[in-house]
Amino acid sequence: MNDQTIKEFDAIIVGAGFAGIYQLLKLRRLGLSAVILEKADQIGGTWHWNRYPGARCDIPSLEYSYQFDEDLQQEWNWSEKYSAQPEILEYINHVADRFELRDGINFEEEVSKATFIESESKWYVETSKNKYETRFCIFATGCLSVPNKPNFNGLENFEGEILQTSTWPQEEQNFSGKKVAIIGTGSSAIQSIPLIAEQAEELYVFQRTPNYSIPSNNGPMDKEVEKQVKSRYPEFRKENYLNGFGIAAMSDEALISESDPEEVNANFEENWKNAGLGFFGGYADIPLDVDANAVAANFVRNKIKGIVKDPHTAALLSPDYHIGGKRLCVDTGYFETFNKENVHLINLKENPISEITSNSINSDEVYEIDTLILATGFDAMTGALTNIDISGRDNIKLKDQWKEGAKSYLGLGISNFPNLFTVTGPGSPSVLSNMMPSIEQHVNWITDCIDWMIKNEKKVIESSATAEEDWMVLVNEIADMTIFTDTKSWYNGSNIESKAKAFLPFIGVPVYTEKLEEVVSENYKGFIFDRVN
Ligand code: FAD
Ligand code: NAP
Repeated sequence: MNDQTIKEFDAIIVGAGFAGIYQLLKLRRLGLSAVILEKADQIGGTWHWNRYPGARCDIPSLEYSYQFDEDLQQEWNWSEKYSAQPEILEYINHVADRFELRDGINFEEEVSKATFIESESKWYVETSKNKYETRFCIFATGCLSVPNKPNFNGLENFEGEILQTSTWPQEEQNFSGKKVAIIGTGSSAIQSIPLIAEQAEELYVFQRTPNYSIPSNNGPMDKEVEKQVKSRYPEFRKENYLNGFGIAAMSDEALISESDPEEVNANFEENWKNAGLGFFGGYADIPLDVDANAVAANFVRNKIKGIVKDPHTAALLSPDYHIGGKRLCVDTGYFETFNKENVHLINLKENPISEITSNSINSDEVYEIDTLILATGFDAMTGALTNIDISGRDNIKLKDQWKEGAKSYLGLGISNFPNLFTVTGPGSPSVLSNMMPSIEQHVNWITDCIDWMIKNEKKVIESSATAEEDWMVLVNEIADMTIFTDTKSWYNGSNIESKAKAFLPFIGVPVYTEKLEEVVSENYKGFIFDRVN
């Protein structure tokens, strides 16, 4: 690798989403030279790639946003309670301009390889265009950034248009007069189906597993709420770290098991109207206790029955697993859409797709279509990392080390991979939290750690194998106390056939936050500095 053209930086950041952008700013403020390598032609990550109709956040924008700069959070005004993808993309672009970050991003450079050379304590990173050497490698590659494209029999023969929600074209799509099929009924489908149904001549929804969804009751930003939040923004943000899922607007300590059933029902009615994702946090035992969970699940099933006029369709749309076991969805008119004459639900559990031909999907019937939309999700949490050929000490490949399931200490560091950090990596609250405060928490932690290393003249940091092992035991012990582990979901890798089945998110933001602080206060307990072999 003794190449003249190798570019040298103190740190390389992979990914220009919310995480990468903030990481660049923090490292620059520390006085380090850093560059972001991004495979897309622009910034935004999730909010660049997922441009499907209806794409928006489902955590209120007042808290699904950066908190690191008081002027930024005071001056930026969101137009809706839950902002749509174009506005979120505008926001991240504003942040990049406001903090003059664009010149630190190399676009259309997909990282294919990263190798740690022990004798130099350096990483060598390769992209499609360039080679780099660096001391620190920070993967801000996203938890939901690698699309899952199932290998449907005959997909390659389809002659109509194929779209995927997670790589949606930048040009506006018009479905008027078209017969459209959508495969998948997760959050992306649930957001897009109502809007596609308004245009398409016929819409065929191919469902394998139904999902619970709560109405967003989205609307223009309530100026009074905005004023109140902005009057105490720093305190409001602190509440993110006190709630189990990192959502300030979702805090209730009451238990269904100790409440009067009529009162529970009345609260559910209220939460159905106003809470969105917060419905799940409406009672503290919904995530923990199967009986309490069943009460909440029944309430939603009854709502579906009340909304969807055809009883057979209503039954097919009603999930039979724990509410929250798969990521809860938030919608605008999803269940109502199935009352439209041009919308048809096909149950793949009973009639799997046998073949896709040049102009049809064949299941219980032959459905002739013009457009096929894949809303089939992601190789979540680990896909973006295992896609890259990452080699650590002794030429150990990350892919191999994670064959039986990903392991990481705190979701930040991986044993045998020195000076490599992951933002919202496996073993951290990440996807089971409001990701904006979780991203900022990780970027702040990584930056402080690098600063500490410089001040304390430490060259190399890595997780000890024991700390990592113990941490993943804790992640699983906590998960086993909840309803999350006995449902097939992308939280545990069940959506990708070839993937190891392991539950990866740490449940409980406040406990996690305490652990992070404890580790730092004990001089990065569990990490090894300047390991000697
Ligand atoms: P990303 O935004 O995923 O960015 C990662 C970047 O890394 C991408 O730009 C990608 O191109 C780049 N990259 C990956 N691999 C490579 C490589 N090898 N080389 C170069 N570049 C690479 N979370 C919430 O908390 N609330 C929400 O309401 C919410 N809504 C969501 C809606 C959708 C449709 C999706 C898909 C996710 C949503 N999420 C939500 C999760 C969302 O991913 C995070 O909130 C957040 O945007 C992640 O930011 P990030 O920077 O960590 O990762
Ligand atoms: P997803 O939740 O994983 O949903 C994928 C869907 O495709 C599921 O219904 C799945 O069925 C189906 N599917 C996958 N492979 C299939 C196959 N071979 N045959 C038939 N069906 C198949 O993916 P997503 O909807 O893109 O959402 C992923 C995550 O992104 C969400 O959970 C959320 O965290 C985030 N997100 C958030 C929002 C928001 O509201 N802000 C919007 C979109 C996404 P099975 O369930 O049977 O596997």
